[in-house]
Amino acid sequence: MESNTELAKLLGDSRRCLTAPAVVERLSKDFYWYSPVLRKRLEDKQADAVVQPVDTDEVRRILRFCFAHDIPVTPRGAGTGNYGQAIPLNGGVVLDLSLMDRIEAITQDGVAVCEPGVRLGVLETQARTAGWELRCYPSTIVKASVGGFLGGGSGGIGSVLNGNLRDYDTVRALEVVTMEQEPQVHFLEGQAVHDILHAWGTNGIITKIWLALAAKVDWAQCAVAFGSLSAAFDFSERIANAPEWTKRLVTTFEWPIPSYFSPVKQLAPEGKHLIFFLIAQEQLAAFEREAAEAGGAVTYSGHYEGLSTRPLLTDYTWNHTTLWAIKHDEAYTYLQCAFDPDRVREQMRQLKERFGDEFLFHMEFWKNGAGLMIPGAIPLVHFTTEARLNEMIAFCRAIGVFVANPHVNNVEDGGRYREDNVQLIAKRRYDPKGLLNPGKMLSFEPQVEEAARL
Ligand SMILES: Cc1cc2nc3c(=O)[nH]c(=O)nc-3n(C[C@H](O)[C@H](O)[C@H](O)COP(=O)(O)OP(=O)(O)OC[C@H]3O[C@@H](n4cnc5c(N)ncnc54)[C@H](O)[C@@H]3O)c2cc1C
Repeated sequence: MESNTELAKLLGDSRRCLTAPAVVERLSKDFYWYSPVLRKRLEDKQADAVVQPVDTDEVRRILRFCFAHDIPVTPRGAGTGNYGQAIPLNGGVVLDLSLMDRIEAITQDGVAVCEPGVRLGVLETQARTAGWELRCYPSTIVKASVGGFLGGGSGGIGSVLNGNLRDYDTVRALEVVTMEQEPQVHFLEGQAVHDILHAWGTNGIITKIWLALAAKVDWAQCAVAFGSLSAAFDFSERIANAPEWTKRLVTTFEWPIPSYFSPVKQLAPEGKHLIFFLIAQEQLAAFEREAAEAGGAVTYSGHYEGLSTRPLLTDYTWNHTTLWAIKHDEAYTYLQCAFDPDRVREQMRQLKERFGDEFLFHMEFWKNGAGLMIPGAIPLVHFTTEARLNEMIAFCRAIGVFVANPHVNNVEDGGRYREDNVQLIAKRRYDPKGLLNPGKMLSFEPQVEEAARL
């Protein structure tokens, strides 16, 4: 493509414009195949080229060129997103931000200032050296980038203590480049960061991040097994809700999910329901006593030495649980749910009664923005047909279980679209032609927007 040659010229080094078909295909894909529905829909989608800027100025030059030539641009961090978020639907350019990976500072008051391509694991390790740690992170921490987490993620390990990414001013500020004839660099802080957060790169390119950290805690890992799911759930809920326990992770697995964790099978006695915790090391002995009194058997405990700890229990939690299940049986997929804290037991009972082992409980607690502990879940679903999957989603919603649908490829239906439309309003302002990750924000209709401008 002629424009590829032009793009290569825009970069200081033409090797950062990649056109080899196998490379372009690889960098056009994410973990969309987690969904059997999206797997079919997205497998043939890919970019025409991948460009790898090294600074904000290069991002601006690339966007200026693409705007002038009507070339779609899809930003990419590490491509660990699940919903085809980073897969270009209309070809064009993948803007791979992985080379923008400088940590500028970790301030005295615990704010990391960094570029979007910094891997979360690198930031966590560096932060811990300075006495801080990430407030929350996905189980893909080692690979995933900070920019991709802000663009497509929501929370994870740490959310039980510090809430999700959107809460408690965790994202302090962003530098964002717009897709206009003359791309602008905006500094957004306070509420304005929500214009861009979880917008899948559809309304601006994040080029710098100010991310609030938490004070470092000395953690221990602990696995506790129970004879019944209800006993396991009761204990996990009690610990999640009790402020006296300092915890970073409370994950409950219905049997046979733990049997799919092949490297740590020894932690999972046959037929038992398992909970994985990250708990303050200084509380570990008391915590083990508490678990035993509740009827649980501690099958493992040990000091957390950072991300190189083995076994690393977080490798089996959040959406890694689904990965282990798919490795065991390709027919597994998942949903993302939030149960009602006051009705969770009744809702779980109704789901079990209706779907039996087609729906296996994997619960993840997190604190919401109002301080309420939410029994969240990433249940495993044994997939048969799309109609059956939709029936499950509809049933969940009918009994008051919130579902963020991971089998759709647009911001609105994915469950974290802002009802106040701030992401759409920002798109109108920052990407008037609709060239950023086109097709992913359905409420933005290019022809309608164009007509309104004329
Ligand atoms: C095994 C597994 C476990 C997971 N666990 C979790 C979890 O616990 N919690 C969670 O929230 N998610 C989870 N995810 C989803 C995903 O890993 C996270 O969202 C992760 O943070 C994505 O980071 P990334 O760098 O790979 O982003 P990418 O996949 O590269 O991008 C994600 C989205 O952000 C956009 N984007 C990327 N960079 C920028 C930028 N600089 N500016 C604007 N937009 C940008 C992309 O266009 C895309 O739409 C999991 C996924 C897998 C496969």
